[in-house]
Amino acid sequence: MYYSNGNYEAFAKPIKPEGVDHKSAYLIGSGLASLAAACFLVRDAQMKGSHIHILEKGPIPGGALDGEQITNVGYVMRGGREMDNHFECMWDLFRSIPSIQTEGISILDEYYWLNKKDPNYSLCRATEKCGQDAHTDKKFNLSDKGAMEIMKLFMTPDDQLANVKMTELFDDEVFNTTFWLYWRTMFAFKDDQSALEMKRYMQRYIHHIGGLPDFTALRFTKYNQYESMVLPMVKYLKDNGVVFHYNTTVENVLFTAKNGKKVASEIDVEHEGKKETIGLTEDDYVFFTNGSNVDNSTYGSQNKACGMDKVIHEDSSFGLWRKIAKQDSSFGHPDKFCMDPEDSNWVSATVNTLDGKILPYIQKICKRDPLSGGVVTGGIVTVKDSAWLLSWTINRQPQYVSQPNGQVLVWLYGMFSDVKGDYVKKTMRECTGEEICEEWLYHIGVPTDQIKELALKSANTVSVMMPFASAYFQPREKGDRPEVVPACSANFAFIGNFAETPRDTVFTTEYSIRTGMEAVYTLLNVDRGVPEVWGSVYNVRDLLDATVALRDGQKITTMKLSFGKKMVLKTALKKIKGTEVENLLKEHKVI
Ligand SMILES: Cc1cc2nc3c(=O)[nH]c(=O)nc-3n(C[C@H](O)[C@H](O)[C@H](O)COP(=O)(O)OP(=O)(O)OC[C@H]3O[C@@H](n4cnc5c(N)ncnc54)[C@H](O)[C@@H]3O)c2cc1C
Repeated sequence: MYYSNGNYEAFAKPIKPEGVDHKSAYLIGSGLASLAAACFLVRDAQMKGSHIHILEKGPIPGGALDGEQITNVGYVMRGGREMDNHFECMWDLFRSIPSIQTEGISILDEYYWLNKKDPNYSLCRATEKCGQDAHTDKKFNLSDKGAMEIMKLFMTPDDQLANVKMTELFDDEVFNTTFWLYWRTMFAFKDDQSALEMKRYMQRYIHHIGGLPDFTALRFTKYNQYESMVLPMVKYLKDNGVVFHYNTTVENVLFTAKNGKKVASEIDVEHEGKKETIGLTEDDYVFFTNGSNVDNSTYGSQNKACGMDKVIHEDSSFGLWRKIAKQDSSFGHPDKFCMDPEDSNWVSATVNTLDGKILPYIQKICKRDPLSGGVVTGGIVTVKDSAWLLSWTINRQPQYVSQPNGQVLVWLYGMFSDVKGDYVKKTMRECTGEEICEEWLYHIGVPTDQIKELALKSANTVSVMMPFASAYFQPREKGDRPEVVPACSANFAFIGNFAETPRDTVFTTEYSIRTGMEAVYTLLNVDRGVPEVWGSVYNVRDLLDATVALRDGQKITTMKLSFGKKMVLKTALKKIKGTEVENLLKEHKVI
């Protein structure tokens, strides 16, 4: 497997790998990582679909990418996906997956057309004092000291960031700024989480720094991701003969040693109460999504709280990873990620408005008609003074193909589920859907004498607790996440956000697709480049733009410098006078 960039490799079809007709694949889990790996097996490794088996514990595919309508409970989405134009592996794949909404186009075209015609941007990024615009006004409000703390992290080599928390590097000069308000709510970082991952994010999305405050950086699918991404991929796979085994729990994978390599030789499964063993040879490849940030999700309803389940169950993704990790030291350390659910949990909720009574309050904040069919909030609106640190968003409506006309689905989440609310004096995890809706209505400015009535009669709210939602961000060191294909492995790969791949960032759909692609290309020896992580961090123009944006548009000449440093800057500016360097700095408003 090797990385490439540019369109020479992008549009090339690889030669069929030798012997692939005699090989088969077993994918554990049917989340995005497995679905993507299966698509790459079909399209690029040219494996027969009937040789590809997807073993999924649940009754439906998609894993974290959900869009459910639970009978007698209502619509519920655990999350909504913010996506980027430089999800290179995603677009490489999605150009080949036919849309199920519009005949004759791919899901890349569907997404591209939609976001071209109706680009995303926000008209109110944060509120305070019950629905008033908090006037963050696209500013970061970082001091020079705060900017230097961020710059220092940006320049620190990875090995010096092993197990380091952000609290060890940043102080209030970063944490008390609008920059941090935007950052932590958009990406769901907590202050004590991984500095290494924060650095990766800064580098990975350096081209988007200027687009963070108003979300011009973001793009969204038309419907929820189950309908816009999972269903088309499943159709493509089924059309190619891939076999899906639902309600099939993998209990263990056993390995044997051969010629200095580890061979996955047996998969133990449980299907409808029956235990079965799948025997494997070196020609059978196994792809395992190790760890899931939606393991142990528990659902509430309008009248029920979601609760919390912190136990690592043997049959969960983390439970299975534990059993596999015991069999080789290079298979990672799951406990590094799943042992602090009090830190990694979030509660999200889907509010389904049932009539028009709540809509004017929404419209007043986001300045758009929620029923127009176009962009509504244009990304999350953060309630700056909420004890739960609530953020809410309304994507283009309808969010479900089946959604009744005139109804709106609002998605919200709180970063602190163990703190009492400002209106409802309960923690978010203790609240019923109706109570969560009350707290949100309070923060969007509904008069207190109307809150109860509207939450009861004009909305149906369903919450979900995800104890491991931000487990991806737990402080880590090299070796905690296994390599996609560990050096010792003959036929086994780790995929998803807990497998290690250079430079890419977790909590993303792209990461799952990338690891799926890398796993297939490595094990099957597919002779075509995997698109490298977008290289904006090596692009001087992006670095200049980000530097200026982080300082709210100020030129470098405004920095408060010591006399010595001021002289160095003066001399440097003199030296570049009349050169292309000076032109470049002027063009990017650095000077
Ligand atoms: C709330 C939330 C918000 C998000 N926001 C964004 C965003 O804004 N932008 C973005 O790009 N990404 C976002 N993500 C991340 C993205 O959705 C996930 O990273 C991605 O979908 C994970 O896919 P996966 O296949 O790697 O893992 P999962 O989807 O977790 O799949 C694991 C699968 O394994 C199955 N399984 C578990 N144990 C077993 C077993 N023993 N046997 C058989 N099957 C088993 C599970 O049922 C599941 O189907 C978000 C995720 C969440 C939860």
